[in-house]
Amino acid sequence: MVCRIRYSIRRVSCFDCGVKVEAVPWAQSGSRFTRTFEMHTTYLAQQNDKTTVTKLMRIGWTTVGKIIHRVVADQLGDIDRLDNLRLIGIDEISYRRHHEYITVVVDHERGVVVWAAKGKSAATLKQFFDALGPQRLAKLSSP
Ligand SMILES: [Zn+2]
Repeated sequence: MVCRIRYSIRRVSCFDCGVKVEAVPWAQSGSRFTRTFEMHTTYLAQQNDKTTVTKLMRIGWTTVGKIIHRVVADQLGDIDRLDNLRLIGIDEISYRRHHEYITVVVDHERGVVVWAAKGKSAATLKQFFDALGPQRLAKLSSP
């Protein structure tokens, strides 16, 4: 069930910092939606096509994108997925009928995607190795 609530978030105007809004436990700051709504939307977006998600949740696709970004950032927190990598796999997936590509790096030990970026060139992969850095690169095992 999806609840609809109405609440006026308190705003405080500070002469030094400007306007600050109250933090509430049921929503992320800057969001008009509850955490439950955002989690539900993100789950639906993983399992369904664009049209289904926008119809079910009665929100636009750009809003779905913003929600996904907030949820992923919130769920990942301070975790750096590139830490403690030993065995990785690199693959590319295509979309728009093989006109566009995404390079994906997975951690084979944890079975999770740890990095992804648009493109499939050496420059795309260089972005990954730049993000990884030399110390974490040294911990990767070679077959
Ligand atoms: Zn202030």
